[in-house]
Amino acid sequence: LVVVENVNKHFGELHVLKNINLTVNRGEVVVIIGPSGSGKSTLCRSINRLEPIDDGRILVDGEELPKEGKELARHRADVGMVFQSFNLFAHKTILENVTLGPIKVRKVGKQEAEKHAMELLDRVGIASQAQKYPAQLSGGQQQRVAIARSLAMKPKVMLFDEPTSALDPEMVNEVLDVMTELARDGMTMIVVTHEMGFARRAAQKVVFMADGQIVEENTPDEFFTNARTDRAKDFLSKIL
Ligand code: ATP
Ligand code: MG
Repeated sequence: LVVVENVNKHFGELHVLKNINLTVNRGEVVVIIGPSGSGKSTLCRSINRLEPIDDGRILVDGEELPKEGKELARHRADVGMVFQSFNLFAHKTILENVTLGPIKVRKVGKQEAEKHAMELLDRVGIASQAQKYPAQLSGGQQQRVAIARSLAMKPKVMLFDEPTSALDPEMVNEVLDVMTELARDGMTMIVVTHEMGFARRAAQKVVFMADGQIVEENTPDEFFTNARTDRAKDFLSKIL
């Protein structure tokens, strides 16, 4: 469903993505892990063209993302993205946050958008807070709203860039539980996280990045117990 082919990217002199190749199949969950500065966020951002790439190709459902314009907005909506900071619209209610994209980009009618939004808010356990504003919710609740907002666009793939790293520890699991459910329901997901429990529970594949390269691709069980590369072993010895 997502194919990254020979992708390179520089920030000035800095070569941040070095010949990246990655395939994510439909319904697959891939966890990306690696040290700070290894290029994990840049890779995610280039998959939905928040970052231009220097060369190579990125295909989503067989198509390269257009470079600009209306087409880009529509294609970008196929790739849902959830960041560390939830980026909800502060002056809009939870319900409005979830309906805005479908109404504007997908041209869905207000009633239908609201009905779907309430189903999604129910799915992430926030339906009773629909009329509140983001600041009235906890971080974990806001992140679940951000997930519902992405899902409202009916994306083909969901990207998560360290979705729990800004949360207080007691809220991490409520977000990971929603993500685990999503994975069980068959959503294709690319998740940058160091949450090994989630990786073991939900992922089919772990991709370890270092210095702009994919150093190792492995199953979660093998990776966490018996990594093949010294670079990965060294990294794991620091975070475990
Ligand atoms: P972290 O775990 O800290 O989030 P990361 O693996 O996500 O790290 P990236 O954010 O992708 O790493 O950054 C990769 C490299 O690119 C880093 O050296 C970073 O400083 C650099 N970089 C990222 N964004 C930019 C930018 N807009 N301009 C210049 N350099 C950048
Ligand atoms: Mg990052």
